[in-house]
Amino acid sequence: MEAKTIKKIGVLTSGGDAPGMNAAIRAAVRAGFYYNLEMYGIYRGYEGMIQNDIKKLDSKYITHVLERGGTFLKSARSDEFRTPEGRKKAYENLKNHGIDALIVIGGDGSLTGAHLFFQEYGIPAIGLPGTIDNDLSGTDSTIGFDTACNTAIEAIDKIRDTATSHDRLFFVEVMGRDAGFIAVNAGIGSAAAAILIPENKTPIETLVEKLKTRSKAMKTSNIVIVAEGGKSGSAQEIADKVKKFLPYYDIKVTILGHLQRGGAPTAFDRLLASKLGVAAVEGLLQGKYDVMAGMINNKVVFTPIVKAIVDDKHVDDEDLRVANILST
Ligand code: ATP
Repeated sequence: MEAKTIKKIGVLTSGGDAPGMNAAIRAAVRAGFYYNLEMYGIYRGYEGMIQNDIKKLDSKYITHVLERGGTFLKSARSDEFRTPEGRKKAYENLKNHGIDALIVIGGDGSLTGAHLFFQEYGIPAIGLPGTIDNDLSGTDSTIGFDTACNTAIEAIDKIRDTATSHDRLFFVEVMGRDAGFIAVNAGIGSAAAAILIPENKTPIETLVEKLKTRSKAMKTSNIVIVAEGGKSGSAQEIADKVKKFLPYYDIKVTILGHLQRGGAPTAFDRLLASKLGVAAVEGLLQGKYDVMAGMINNKVVFTPIVKAIVDDKHVDDEDLRVANILST
C-alpha cells in the first residue's frame, strides 16, 4: 500500500497487561519524536478511545517508564469496541484529535480489534505483540513472556526449598489458558517432575506412574507444573486425583496467579519492546499497515495481523521431548 502522510500517531495498550508494555510505548513515542511526529496516548485501550481519554504526550510522560512493569497508559477490555457503534465513536474521537495512525500493543483480541478498525475506517495501524502468553504467530517471543517465565521460575525455586525440606509433592499452577509456553519454559527451567499443558491431555495414570518411578529413584522433592485451563483440570483437581493413588505423599498446591504479570521487565523484554516500538513507527511511515511487528531470529518481521492471530502457534514438540528426558 502506498504510504499515507502521517503526522499524529495514537498509542494504546489493551487486554491483559504485560511487563515491557511501558518500554514499548516509550520506544514508540521516542521514535515518533525522532521523526518529528506528534504522539498521543490513548488511555485504557479501546475503552479510552471511545470515551475520548486521549492526551498528547511529551517527553516527561515517558521518563523512567522503561524499567517499570504494567502500562502507564493503563489497559482495559472494552465490550463496546466490539460493536460497530462503539468503533464509530472511537473513530470520531480520533478524527477530532487529527490522529492519523495507531500503534496497538496487546494480545490476539486487541490485534483483532485493530484489524477490524483498519478495515472499517482505513486508519493505518500496526500491532505489537504484548502478552505474557506468547500465543501470537509472527514473533519468536511476545513482549512480557520472558519476564513472566523468569518470575515463575523464581517463585518455583522458592517452592522447591520447602518441597525438599519436607519431601513434599507440589502442584504449581502457572498462567497460559490456551497455550502452555510459560508452563514448558518454567518447567524445564525449574527441573519440574512433569508439565501439564492445555494443548495435551495427560492421563492421571501416566502422571502417577511417573511420580512413582521418581519416588523409587529417591527423588525427594517433586514439582508438577500445571498450566491453568488445561484439559487435565486445574492444579487442585489434579492434585486431588493424584492423592487417591499416592496417599502417602504430602501434597500441596500453589497457584502463582497474577504475580506472573507484574514486575520489572527482563533485559530481553526491554530490548524486544524497544526494538519493536521503533519498528512500529518506522513501519507506519513506510506504509506497512494492518500488520504486527514481531522479532524472528533477531530480525524485525512484519506479519499481516490476520496471520499473526491465527491460532497456529503451539509449544514445540522438541521442548516437550527435552522436558521429558530431563524429568525421568
Ligand atoms: P490477552 O492475551 O492478555 O488476553 P487480548 O488482547 O487477547 O490480551 P482480549 O480481551 O481478547 O485481550 O481483547 C482486548 C480487547 O480488544 C477487547 O476487550 C475488545 O475491546 C478488543 N477486541 C477483541 N476482540 C475483538 C473483536 N473481534 N472485535 C473488536 N474488538 C475486539
